[in-house]
Order: sequence, then structure tokens, then C-alpha cells
Amino acid sequence: MNNQPDKSLTIIGAGLAGALLATLLARSGWQVDVYEKRGDPRVKGYEGGRSINLALAERGRNALRQADADDAVMTQAVMMRGRMVHFADGTLQLQRYGRDDSEVIWSVHRGDLNITLLDLADKAGARLHFDRRLDSVDFDARVARFRDDRAGQAHETGFRALVGADGAGSALRAAMNRQADLGERSEFLDHSYKELEIPPSADGDFRIEPNALHIWPRGRYMCIALPNDEKTFTVTLFLPNEGDPSFASLKTVADARALFERDFADALPLIPDLEEDWQRNPPGLLATLYLDRWHIDGRAVLLGDAAHAMVPFHGQGMNCAFEDCVALARKLEAGVDLAEAFAGYEAERKPNAAAIQHMALENYLEMRDRVDDPDFLLQRELERK
Ligand code: FAD
Repeated sequence: MNNQPDKSLTIIGAGLAGALLATLLARSGWQVDVYEKRGDPRVKGYEGGRSINLALAERGRNALRQADADDAVMTQAVMMRGRMVHFADGTLQLQRYGRDDSEVIWSVHRGDLNITLLDLADKAGARLHFDRRLDSVDFDARVARFRDDRAGQAHETGFRALVGADGAGSALRAAMNRQADLGERSEFLDHSYKELEIPPSADGDFRIEPNALHIWPRGRYMCIALPNDEKTFTVTLFLPNEGDPSFASLKTVADARALFERDFADALPLIPDLEEDWQRNPPGLLATLYLDRWHIDGRAVLLGDAAHAMVPFHGQGMNCAFEDCVALARKLEAGVDLAEAFAGYEAERKPNAAAIQHMALENYLEMRDRVDDPDFLLQRELERK
């Protein structure tokens, strides 16, 4: 008779959290199957489509180290020492995050990061199934049903337990909600975002200071720009949905250009394809997701954005998702039954996620409205001394 505990799990979503969790578990001897709705980005190219780069902080790096992923990720990362504030009068000021370069954050490319983590999961022995979109779940029979949207085929598989790493619009969360009320509510921000690009200079270099997170704070709205290792910057414009100016009031690309001429004059010459970028990238919505419960006994559990999507102004959604992965893997390794492990993980991570969600909302006000306020700057300077 086999007395070995059953160490098998099915992860939904091979994004940032799904790929890291798969690596951590597979390296500890778990049999891990990962189902991802998109094609394999290592074969087909990355089709992520939003927030091209991300700020990676020490919390996230610490989690990556647990999977020996940090070195591979850091080869593509660009250091950001602080905020480079672009004042309305065209002057610049670097506001350091810490005392020196031991306290910095890093800009990483979402697609490259995802591919690095998928490679590690693959090497660790996780089984990756692409073009498999979770469609529905029979929790009583423990059967998950998937669709291959390209081939138009249906697939199903049995499972011991499901882990939802399928992002803010999680299909697993919707299926769990049908089984047991998770107490879900979403609060949408009255601002959205649009991504634009600063290409390299004619001689192939960065066009502005590479080792900073650039901010153009303008009161009710702002632009930020993060560097990419191919010497580009991804610019994100955060703007109200309604009012003036807003995504509703900017009806044409000429309106968008006029806004940049007036409020982001030093950024405009850096974005030669403003019109194309504006038309290609629709505004992205921003919301905070709150759940009362993250798991259904030992059958299903959520992590990352599927459990606690947040607005991006603290740059901590991915970092927090990575911490979830480490916490869940540790609880599972403790050898308790799955229901106990999922409950322990939720008890540990839910208050942390709630605190970061709150800080992310607060930081929006600070970034768009206060980083160019002399009183605020003086107070920050005094706090650092
Ligand atoms: P995701 O990265 O969304 O991955 C989910 C995966 O599940 C995807 O691969 C998706 O294809 C797959 N999937 C979805 N549905 C299904 C299905 N039905 N079946 C199978 N697979 C499915 N965080 C930071 O830490 N720093 C930042 O600087 C930062 N900046 C951001 C900027 C913007 C504009 C936005 C919107 C977010 C930002 N974030 C940032 C947050 C970060 O993007 C998320 O927190 C992070 O991606 C969460 O990872 P995840 O794996 O939980 O979800």
C-alpha cells in the first residue's frame, strides 16, 4: 500500500504568480499541472497586452530567491534609484527611495519575466498546458473543464485541488463563487490608464535618465515612465474617466496631443508615435478587489490578483502575488491537510494584502498631487535624516 501523501495540485493561470508557484512546488516534489488560456509565449511570443513593465521591489526579489529565480530575472532588470519628478515648469528633481543604491527598486519587462519563470517551472518538472482556458468546474466530482479557443475544442481533467492564479478576472473565482459565496466586491477607480512608448535615441541609447521612475505629477492626473532594458521607456498616462481633461473629453488624438503640449511638454518630443500608441492602446480600467474568503475547504484557493487585485500606484501587485506563492508553498510543505494549509495561508496573507491595497490607493494621491509640493518634500527629507 502507498502511504505517501498525495502531493498533486492543479494551477489555473501561468502568469507571474502561477509560474512562480509551480516552480516552488515542483522543486519540492509536488506533481504540478498548470493550465493557461494563452499560447506558450516561448513559442508564440508574449501576448500579455498590458503594463509592459513592472517595478520589482525587495519583497518580490525575496520571493524569487526562494525559487532561485532572482539571478535570472535580474539580468534583465533596470535599477530605479528614485522618482525623477518632471515639474510643470520643465525642471527636474530626483527624489531617492533610500539613502543609497542598497535601497532601490527595479524595472522588469512583464513578458521576459513571465518567460524566465515558465522556463524555471518547466525545468523543475511542472507540466504546462497552454491554450487551455478554464471554463467551468464541478467541485463535487472534482472535474475542471477547459476550452482551447484556437482549436475550438473542449477538454476536461480531474483534480485534487485547484489554485487560482488566473488574474483579476479569475474564472476559478467565478466558479468558486457559484459553489460558495466568497463575499466578493470590486471598487473601480474613477481613473484609467493608457500606455505609450519612448523609443531609444538615434544612437541607440536611453532618451532620458534610465535609473529612475519618471513622474509628471499634474494634480488630478499624471504620467509615469519606467525604463526597459532595450533602452525604451513605457509611459503610462493616468487620467480621470470623466471631467476635463479625461479619457471622455479627449475625443481625438489631436485632443491628446494638445493635452501633452500643454501639460507634458518635455515628454511630448520623446513620444514620436503618440498618435499610433493612443489609437492602438485602449484605456485600461483600475479596480481594487475585496474577498471575505480566499478558499473553499481543501478544494480550491486563490492567490495574486485573483484574490486581491489592487490599483498599481504602489507597484506592489506582483510583489504581493510573489509573497503569496512563498506563503502558500510553505503551508503546503508543512504536511498538514489541504484545507488546513489553505486556511493558514489565507490567515497569513489576507491582512497583508489588505494593507497593501490601502497603501496603493493612498499612493495615487501622493504621486499625482504631492511629489511636487515643497512642504511635502521638506517633511520627507526630515523623515529620512
Ligand atoms: P496575471 O499576471 O494577470 O496572470 C494571470 C494569468 O492567468 C495570465 O497568464 C492569464 O492569461 C491567465 N488566465 C486568465 N484567465 C484564465 C483562464 N480562464 N484559464 C486559464 N488561464 C487564465 N505590480 C507590481 O508589483 N509592480 C508594478 O509596477 C505594477 N505595475 C502595474 C501597472 C499596471 C498598469 C497594472 C494594471 C498592474 C500593475 N501591477 C504591478 C500589478 C501586476 O500586474 C499584477 O499584480 C500581477 O500581474 C499579478 O500576477 P498574477 O499572476 O496574479 O496575475
